Amino acid sequence: MITSDYHIHTEYSCDDACMTYNTLIKKAKIRGIKDFGVTDHIHTPFNHPDIKNSHEMFMKKKIEGMHFGVEVSAVSKWELDKIALGDYEGNITYGIREGGIPEGELAIAIDEAFIKKYDIEFVVGGTHWLMYKEYTRENLIHDYHRQNLFLANHPLIDIVAHPWWYMGPFKNERNLYTTLPWFDDFKVIPQSIHVELAEALIKNGKFHEVNLSAILLSNHYTEHFKKQYLEYLAFMQDLGVKFTVGSDCHNENYDIDFIHSNSLIEKYGIKIENNLFSALKKVTGR
Ligand SMILES: [Zn+2]
Ligand SMILES: [Zn+2]
Repeated sequence: MITSDYHIHTEYSCDDACMTYNTLIKKAKIRGIKDFGVTDHIHTPFNHPDIKNSHEMFMKKKIEGMHFGVEVSAVSKWELDKIALGDYEGNITYGIREGGIPEGELAIAIDEAFIKKYDIEFVVGGTHWLMYKEYTRENLIHDYHRQNLFLANHPLIDIVAHPWWYMGPFKNERNLYTTLPWFDDFKVIPQSIHVELAEALIKNGKFHEVNLSAILLSNHYTEHFKKQYLEYLAFMQDLGVKFTVGSDCHNENYDIDFIHSNSLIEKYGIKIENNLFSALKKVTGR
């Protein structure tokens, strides 16, 4: 039974997310979500002011069971260096997504000091884009896995968000992904890759997210893919991987179909951690 949600965007997020703290607090109660965390985006330090603003409002609205987190993206050290030098043009809301070095060093745009400054209780880390390579199936599988592993091994990250979520080229005329990179058949990703991610998550005491809006409830993914993804989650669970749920809500009213989500994860026997903070203490001793 889903009674927690550790991936929620508010109106302070740099994207089109638009929910207020007041609405979240009111609707979480109605939807039976007792423990939850706000996680607005940080791609690069360009987004740090959003977190400052979100944190200010969090402190005003703070209630029991509501936590303050962030969602960081895997980005390149190359772009962080350029941004630090002011060496860029145009809109960098999502970082510098062109011109970088393929296979270059990966990074996230927070450190221990930033976490302390805003009392960040947990960090969700996600792979959001192909880094400076041609959009082929092979490149996408390789680079997404490289980024997922980087996040699973990063000491500041607690939850790897939405592994194998994808947004980019290859949507069909009905706005659905049915072909590349892995929507025709999720089994194109070799099992050895899943095992490698599972081992990293388990070794480091990190959680694998079960993402609702962006994967299991997404309008852009087929039922065929969602079934294969749930089978993948069950496979990861058999290997010993632990899961948290993240609605990844970007809408105004916390409209998330938790009832359908519950039925899906129950059907596949997926167990979820509804108390991240006692679990994290167990794992990390912090
Ligand atoms: Zn994300
Ligand atoms: Zn998100």
